Amino acid sequence: MGRTKKVGSTGKFGARYGLKIRRRILKVESKKTKVCPYCGKKQLKRVAAGIWECKKCGTKFAGGAYTVKYEETSA
Ligand SMILES: [Zn+2]
Repeated sequence: MGRTKKVGSTGKFGARYGLKIRRRILKVESKKTKVCPYCGKKQLKRVAAGIWECKKCGTKFAGGAYTVKYEETSA
């Protein structure tokens, strides 16, 4: 990867979408694995926008595009 300075993985967006939005995306993208709501293991991975898959129990479900919605509300 090239130099991304402090924008990290959101450097792919260039100067588009606004700094605030990119910072928010960076925050969630840098945290690739999340806790699975079914088995409680930290094996949840975002396979596509809104689709999450647990590597541990194999559960695939729809959630938020960039975050697991239930986690946002419960945490
Ligand atoms: Zn699981």
